[in-house]
Amino acid sequence: MKQIIIAIDGYSSTGKSTLAKALAKLLSYKYIDTGAMYRVVTLYALRNGFVDKQEINKAGLVSSLGEIKIAFQINEQGKSEATLNGISVESEIRGMEVSSYVSKVSVIAEVRELLVAEQQEMGKSKGIVMDGRDIASVVFPAAELKLFMTASEAIRVQRRLDEMTYNGLDVTFEAVKENIAERDYIDTHRTIAPLIQTEDALVLDNSSLSREQQLEWVLEKVKALC
Ligand code: C5P
Repeated sequence: MKQIIIAIDGYSSTGKSTLAKALAKLLSYKYIDTGAMYRVVTLYALRNGFVDKQEINKAGLVSSLGEIKIAFQINEQGKSEATLNGISVESEIRGMEVSSYVSKVSVIAEVRELLVAEQQEMGKSKGIVMDGRDIASVVFPAAELKLFMTASEAIRVQRRLDEMTYNGLDVTFEAVKENIAERDYIDTHRTIAPLIQTEDALVLDNSSLSREQQLEWVLEKVKALC
């Protein structure tokens, strides 16, 4: 079968990574969660004092970008985990603190340049499913299959809340709702690489679709291309 690039973009908590992971597994493709990469940079900023009074010290963070090595490793349960300089930070990057600053870090041009270059390198040999906000528009504008995912607000909030609660985090529906709304606003309104639905993207509203139905729908599109 021909190897292609599958670019998945969409608002926060629309189930992009769940679908992307399942798809990559079925096709024996690589899966890259680009949101995790922005989250790792944010964690680094928090840990190294580049966040002060809710603002990001852009100059400080940019001058330290060379110190940040992001990678993905498979843990004992077979799950992919993001690492910062060789150490797993998977649980830290999913917490509320990182979630509340990640969109502010993601507007920094130098951060995006660095991560986009790494993502393009990862997709050089194709056979990859990548999800994020600018995959179809910036990272892989020539991707063979582009999906734009969306779902109702209530469903997205509930999904993120369930995921966080499952991971042992103590958060409320309201706090998650506020965080998702704020991130979506920043992500769609920033000047560099805002989240957009490209003209050639197929829209997948999964508000009332099961995981199996979504997978079946995408697999049909993949088969038609390969
Ligand atoms: O996908 P996830 O919700 O983990 O992404 C966290 C944040 O990272 C997004 O809200 C967005 O600010 C940023 N992001 C981005 N570009 C990407 C992926 C994520 O700006 N390709």
